[in-house]
Amino acid sequence: MLIYDLDIDQLTSLLKEWNEPAYRAKQIWQGLYQHLYNSPEQFTNLPKSLREKMAEHLTFSPFTVKTYLDSSDGFTRKTLFQLPDNHLIESVLMRYGDPADNPQITAAAPNSENMRGAKNRRTLCISTQAGCAMGCVFCATGQMGFKRHLTSGEIVAQVMYYARMLKDVNESVTNIVFMGMGEPFHNYDNTMEAVDRLNDADGYNFGARRFTISTVGLVPQIRRFADEKRQVNLAISLHAADDEERLAIMPVNKRYKIDDVIKACRYYVEQTGRRVTFEWALISGVNDTPEVAKRLASRLKGLMCHVNAIPLNPTAGYEGRATDRQRAVAFKETLEQAGIPCTIRMRRGIDIQAGCGQLAGSVSSV
Ligand code: SAH
Ligand code: SF4
Repeated sequence: MLIYDLDIDQLTSLLKEWNEPAYRAKQIWQGLYQHLYNSPEQFTNLPKSLREKMAEHLTFSPFTVKTYLDSSDGFTRKTLFQLPDNHLIESVLMRYGDPADNPQITAAAPNSENMRGAKNRRTLCISTQAGCAMGCVFCATGQMGFKRHLTSGEIVAQVMYYARMLKDVNESVTNIVFMGMGEPFHNYDNTMEAVDRLNDADGYNFGARRFTISTVGLVPQIRRFADEKRQVNLAISLHAADDEERLAIMPVNKRYKIDDVIKACRYYVEQTGRRVTFEWALISGVNDTPEVAKRLASRLKGLMCHVNAIPLNPTAGYEGRATDRQRAVAFKETLEQAGIPCTIRMRRGIDIQAGCGQLAGSVSSV
């Protein structure tokens, strides 16, 4: 049994079964999520007999590290994890925003709002599924198809892995984005359980507002998420302003039309008072013209939102190419003239295919 799969109540009942007092559960919880222990021997405040029992019945890592890659600028690390059933998932750590350690970015955007906000960020991009069933044509994960859902513990363990690594250098994770492999709202319950576990004030205590969930636009789940009134940020992968154009690159549009997605987003804003982010992979000649930007602006009119545009990260299975900088800036300007705020994101870790070709989360403004 993977220890990260248990919530505090389940851990408490397990210890009860083992005839241990309830406070032991709390000690284990704190060891796991505050001290970041990942083996029974580290729990020196527990009796030896209990540590042995933990070693016998519980696992502390759901995966082995198959490989890792550092980007040439040294600020992005991608880790490829192998699950017990041999599926591979990946998580990416992006260190950025600190002007002192990233002169390149500072030079590109010395005074931008984004730069200041991004100072010293350690953003983790994690997976919720092995593969993905949504089939977006431009996406490396979509091209590989669906393997399986991750359990809540497998999601949590990705965070703990990097949290430990950062702790060794006196740093910590500052943001978590669900933009790795998989569609978080297709694996809704496990994803939210992972959020709750990481958010727990007696445990890892990671603030709700520092999570961002990115979805392909599953309407019922957007509404459910809105009803739950979570403080977690919501991002919607839109990528097209017209149903036909969206259907050509995102099969999900057959089920949920753009209008319905945007209606659900309006509902989310009403329920939570929070702004929605729309993600937009800029694909040359496909969705990057001023006409498209105008259509997008009219769809989003009156909605409290923001557009994150990022030049496409090319993948083997799709012939589309990235929009060049000049056109990207024109796209942004057209949106902004129509009153829709837009940020162009810089691709990070391009040399290591960070985020499985999904670099929308790998953010730094240019
Ligand atoms: N399934 C979710 C979250 C994972 S994908 C979703 O689709 O939102 C994270 C982001 O990366 C999404 O916005 C996705 O559209 C984007 N993405 C996928 N492939 C990409 C590529 N090749 N280039 C740029 N962005 C990409
Ligand atoms: Fe799945 Fe997101 Fe990739 Fe689409 S973009 S295939 S939803 S991971």
